Amino acid sequence: MQKFTYHGHTKWSDGTATIDEAIETAISKGFSEIGFSDHLVLHPSGEDFFFSIPNARLGEYVDEVRSHANRADINVRLGVEVDYLPSSYWEKKIKEVSDIYQFDYMICGVHFFDGKFNYGTYKWKEMEFSEVLNMQRKYWQNLRKGIETGIFDFAAHIDLPKIFNYQLESELSDEIDAVINALVKTGTAIEINTSGKDKCAEFFPSVKLIERCRDNGIKVLISDDAHHVNHIGRHFAEAEELLENLKYTNRWSL
Ligand SMILES: [Zn+2]
Ligand SMILES: [Zn+2]
Repeated sequence: MQKFTYHGHTKWSDGTATIDEAIETAISKGFSEIGFSDHLVLHPSGEDFFFSIPNARLGEYVDEVRSHANRADINVRLGVEVDYLPSSYWEKKIKEVSDIYQFDYMICGVHFFDGKFNYGTYKWKEMEFSEVLNMQRKYWQNLRKGIETGIFDFAAHIDLPKIFNYQLESELSDEIDAVINALVKTGTAIEINTSGKDKCAEFFPSVKLIERCRDNGIKVLISDDAHHVNHIGRHFAEAEELLENLKYTNRWSL
């Protein structure tokens, strides 16, 4: 069983737990290592997003996580889940903050569709199919561009758009192929994100995509994408079982 969990959110972004509470829970669940990956949105508008660490307080987040660096009972790692946003502003800012803070790892996440975050409120069913397709195409393209920067250790929940009950994998197979190629080319890993089980009844990504990643030599880790303490380690046993059944042994860790 994987003894670390690297994808977790706290009150610093859109989670409900404090860093202390998450650490205590991880210890009680038998983890030997926990990494924090609060959301970081470096938006060209310069504005702060509700689900992101406030940009001006990034240093405080880093300091709080790092203050646990020398614990004997658990190893604490510093990460961030960064939204890739295609702009020169983003390119400049991400270089700046990663140089300053030296994160242990960075996760590439894409949560914006067509420049807006609030995808949860889109009326997908009322939209023209071509519009949905276009937005989801942009999702995959932005994910690919994020991976191609080569600065990320792993990519989050790669087939996130399935959360909308639209399975556009065949229509967008060219974009998905390009994402797989980018992962291979840059040596970026993927995660089995177990939050999918609670949000859309299967892991992110689908078994089909997991198999493709395996066949392409891409490394994998298991993540819970915890936003509450009771998410820590969720469905890990099932994810382990899946990887074992798929003979996916190429695991990623720090
Ligand atoms: Zn995410
Ligand atoms: Zn996340």
